[in-house]
Amino acid sequence: MQVSSYEDLRSKIVSRMITCEEVVRFFLERIDRLSNHNIYITVFHDQALERARMLDRKLRDGVSPGKLFGMPMAIKDNISIKGSRLTCASKILEHYESVYDATSVLRLEAEDAIFLGKTNMDEFAMGSSNENSAYGIVPNPFDNKRVPGGSSGGSAAAVANGLAMVALGSDTGGSVRQPAGFCDIVGLKPTYGRISRYGLVAFASSFDQIGVLARNCDDAALVLEVMAGRDERDATSSSHIVPDYSSVMATVSVEGLKIGVPKEYFPETLNADVARMVKGKLFELRDQGAELVDITLPDSEYAIAAYYILVTAEASSNLARFDGARYGYRSEQAEDLAAMYVNSRTDAFGREVKRRIMLGTYVLSAGYYDTYYKKAQQVRRVFQDRYREALEKVDVIAGPTSPFPPFGIGDKTGDPLDMYLADVFTVPASIVGMPAVSVPLGFDSLNLPVGMHLVCNFFEEGKLLGIAKRIQRSF
Ligand code: GLN
Repeated sequence: MQVSSYEDLRSKIVSRMITCEEVVRFFLERIDRLSNHNIYITVFHDQALERARMLDRKLRDGVSPGKLFGMPMAIKDNISIKGSRLTCASKILEHYESVYDATSVLRLEAEDAIFLGKTNMDEFAMGSSNENSAYGIVPNPFDNKRVPGGSSGGSAAAVANGLAMVALGSDTGGSVRQPAGFCDIVGLKPTYGRISRYGLVAFASSFDQIGVLARNCDDAALVLEVMAGRDERDATSSSHIVPDYSSVMATVSVEGLKIGVPKEYFPETLNADVARMVKGKLFELRDQGAELVDITLPDSEYAIAAYYILVTAEASSNLARFDGARYGYRSEQAEDLAAMYVNSRTDAFGREVKRRIMLGTYVLSAGYYDTYYKKAQQVRRVFQDRYREALEKVDVIAGPTSPFPPFGIGDKTGDPLDMYLADVFTVPASIVGMPAVSVPLGFDSLNLPVGMHLVCNFFEEGKLLGIAKRIQRSF
């Protein structure tokens, strides 16, 4: 089955050239063939086929097809689908079943999407390589000795390997954009509050956003449009109007576009291929009529420092609910209640999750709160102010998605700080809450994917994807 985009697939389904059941069978077969890649944690073999047959019947009965009719999708395993297993790639939730649907899941279903299964990730979305999973390593689709990025590594590998057309991920500091960059696909993190977080397992609530991984910007825009908008069940969701993204995208042109290029995003230490490819693309855009504007932003290293204080603080509080009593795994070895809590958490959380809970508890403790947490909040504010100022002068801020191409499996697991630097360019947009996207630029001298990172002002997803589309189209 050759389909280039959802629009293409949709027209084949609606014109009865192909049935939803055939589409689902095709994808399930590919998923099973690549099962040793650990891309999916759970595959919905029966449910997906059943749903496909139901949609085929609907079409035969003349019911008008929804916006995502028959779209085969993968869902990151930290997003709830009622009655299905939800693990967050953690042993602590190994046998947990969601008791309700995430709002985004309900909205996708209402437009006739089909879910193929739940994808692998770093445990509780903490990581940049998908190596912090209790459900196996996911190889990079272009070099199986390398990582696919993380934490939405399973979702990115699913789309890149053709095991789903579009996938949902979650992005707290780069977890949709960085794996998209590592897997040669588009990864969009919307404005904070654009998509309801109801049903997304919380890591750091003031950063977390559901995002979209797709092969092209049009598919990403369509899925965003379906999920976006106010939700009574998430008080941080925005009631800002949801536009028709495809028509906003169509108004964007490279001619006259002001692209902010922060020198802080092109440090000496940047991988030479990444620097060459991102700059090459910027010069190409200039040749097409865009204006490159030198801007300065706070050093992205401060973003990493502030980010890891703020997210660990929020995580230590959010993950307190996994105590062995309410959800999932409970240790058998426990003389009293306190020992049951401690032993359950000790046995079933992985190393990185424990590290972050300890770090977060430390930065929030009485004597250190002002030194670390309060300071990090102030840094967050400085970033917000500086990004706002910059985007008064330019339309978009551009740079690399990651400072290096996909790295080897095991290369960074021994050095958490080195691993944290994988997000040095994606974390700032999460700190400020602005929408950002990673667009594939092609392949470096080792044949590894390189992505370009773009940030626009709050709620400018249409413009952002319009620019991204112009960039993706021309290579
Ligand atoms: N890699 C970053 C971290 O480990 C980002 C994770 C994310 O966006 N969920 O926190």
